[in-house]
Amino acid sequence: MEQEARKKRVLFLRKLILFSVGMAVLVPVMISLLLAMRYDRAMDALNKSREELTWYKNHFDARQAEAETAVAEAEPAAEQPAVPEGGMGNGAAEAPSAEEEQADADEEEEWDGIRRVYLTFDDGPSASTDQILSTLSDYGVKATFFVTGKPDKRYAQLYNRIVEEGHTLAMHSYSHRYSSVYESLDSFQTDLHKLQNFLYDTTGVWCKIYRFPGGSSNKASSVDMQELIDYLGRENIRYFDWNVDSGDASGSIGTWQIADNVIRGIPRFHNAVVLMHDAQEKRTTLEALPMIIEAVQEMDNTVFAPIDEDTFAVHHTVN
Ligand SMILES: [Zn+2]
Repeated sequence: MEQEARKKRVLFLRKLILFSVGMAVLVPVMISLLLAMRYDRAMDALNKSREELTWYKNHFDARQAEAETAVAEAEPAAEQPAVPEGGMGNGAAEAPSAEEEQADADEEEEWDGIRRVYLTFDDGPSASTDQILSTLSDYGVKATFFVTGKPDKRYAQLYNRIVEEGHTLAMHSYSHRYSSVYESLDSFQTDLHKLQNFLYDTTGVWCKIYRFPGGSSNKASSVDMQELIDYLGRENIRYFDWNVDSGDASGSIGTWQIADNVIRGIPRFHNAVVLMHDAQEKRTTLEALPMIIEAVQEMDNTVFAPIDEDTFAVHHTVN
């Protein structure tokens, strides 16, 4: 009897020890995990606030630089050029590259004093197209969509909505596969006309504006890009690159960073062609769009426009 009771006590004690050891390990692990999660969340919030602050600061700098330029222009200055190089830009802007200076010099000749901002969306239509179009419509802004060929029925109404709401429907290759688009002049032609015909059948629009996948300065083409550019010329198709990159091609870019890239980039050009993407996963582009539009609408002598056949051609490859 006595032995039985002892055995039970020992068993109970053993269980108690095991339980205590288990808890001694588990509890600190759980607490560490919880703390780590809270730390992550706090860091996220901090980073977001920092991005937001930077954005406001840059936005403010840009407005101030613009105001100063306006004052300088209002004063009689006989020897000064009408608009100094990058004069409408903000103080924080880096020195313009040779490409940009060339573009500015080209632009200078015919500039009427109104800055034009061309928002362009590549790679659509997508699950984001409707929201992009609704935002544009809310603000009364027209833009340009460089689309690819998506024969799936659900996209047909999106191609049409782009057209119906007054935006420019433009081409960005049918397949967007570098390996086939840029395999040869032949494959480029085939892809181009497949898209042109597809868009005509879908919307009734005969598109004459093109953007090369990866831009005309892409390094992926097996064909000399000049050969493809010449071909477009013979076909009466104008191509457009961009001079303001939103940076949204990178998957991890935040809303504020996209807005900042665009809002700081625009004042550097008389004709600002802004590269953005119309794709399902680009949520931050959707969020940045209203911020961009509101900031641009506050800029003096600046208007939004869709690309058309008379738009100043922004090219990466200087011909
Ligand atoms: Zn693209």
